[in-house]
Amino acid sequence: MQAVYFNAILVILVFGFVVEQILDFLNSKNKETTVPEDLRNFYDQEKYTKSLNYKRAHNKVGNISGWMSFVASMLFLLLGGFNWLNELLLPEFGDTLWLSLVYFGVLFFASDIMGIPFGLYATFVIEEKFGFNKTTPTTYFIDKIKSYAMTIILGGGIMYVLLLLITSIGEQFWLYAWAVMVAIMIFTNFFYTTLFVPIFNKLTSLEDGELRTEIEKLAAKLNFPLTKIQVMNASKRTSKGNAYFAGFGKKKSIVLFDTLIEKHEVDELVGILAHEIGHYKKKHIIGNMVQGIALNGLMLWLLSWFIFNPELSMALGADQLYIHLNLIAFGILYGPISMITGLIGNVISRKNEYEADAYAIEHTKPEALKTALIRLSTDSLSDLKPHPAYVFMHYSHPTLLQRLKAINSNA
Ligand SMILES: [Zn+2]
Repeated sequence: MQAVYFNAILVILVFGFVVEQILDFLNSKNKETTVPEDLRNFYDQEKYTKSLNYKRAHNKVGNISGWMSFVASMLFLLLGGFNWLNELLLPEFGDTLWLSLVYFGVLFFASDIMGIPFGLYATFVIEEKFGFNKTTPTTYFIDKIKSYAMTIILGGGIMYVLLLLITSIGEQFWLYAWAVMVAIMIFTNFFYTTLFVPIFNKLTSLEDGELRTEIEKLAAKLNFPLTKIQVMNASKRTSKGNAYFAGFGKKKSIVLFDTLIEKHEVDELVGILAHEIGHYKKKHIIGNMVQGIALNGLMLWLLSWFIFNPELSMALGADQLYIHLNLIAFGILYGPISMITGLIGNVISRKNEYEADAYAIEHTKPEALKTALIRLSTDSLSDLKPHPAYVFMHYSHPTLLQRLKAINSNA
């Protein structure tokens, strides 16, 4: 059986990579050099060319880094790297939880460090060239250190608990692990803006003025329990804008990126927020949560079938069961399932976006939402004509043209 597992791992890695390559290829071949008819209202030739170049620049880097990580993981698998690393660490840590934690730590840092040159290039060359980058090397470096610290504390902590449950409970571990995951998901949702956002950004209360008044009016009109309106200094890193809601039950807060406020008129911002309120009113937020919890349960349940099977470790070259090797093998074998669940998730998410847009134009000016969406997309040079297959697999939001069409037919 171990040969079957090995072959399955190999095939799944190759299959995943080939699917991505095909989608990228279709998407890049799908571009016209002159502004397509239906985009002429938003793009002049110069800006359109700029958006194509921006997309192309990111694709090139993405492609090289994709190839590199594919080749690296293939070589690692075929040359027995997973077992080599295990044997290297085994004398130091013995067959303990620490062995597993350090093992994952080494793999994480090795692959992260490999990606650093690409990250630097994307930020300081491409984003810089197209005028989006606001990050300084110092901020970039400090962000990196902070995210490493978070990964070690949070990722390491969660991994420790999972390993502890697996080794002490046995096959029934998945139920307990699921309960822990649900608790963590709810906790992060509750404390996201108070605990996590401030690690990277500054949040300030939105000052009094037309915008605050209009947002409060909207929340009151739609019976939305808004308790806090905050502004986040996203401009420290990028010129791209965004907004989101946080919190549960009767205590909701909005976080607006300062970059969003800068670029949009008040009625456009009200349209964007009405869309976000739409997500809440249409129960999308709670739906996403339930979906996440169900997927988590499915994955842990499947994991419980495989976690104590020594043949998975052996497929990676070991001579006996090691929990961390089984987790790696399972992670790869789960790939096709997560591709399918991701795809279904995107289908649901795109449907939700249409519903939130429909809600927004029912309660605010449709023209304002349209202008806001156009501005958001064109200012960030986003791909307005992606290939339909690419959209189907990867897009959590419909394209701008699809959304405008839907708004026009609903308005
Ligand atoms: Zn949305």
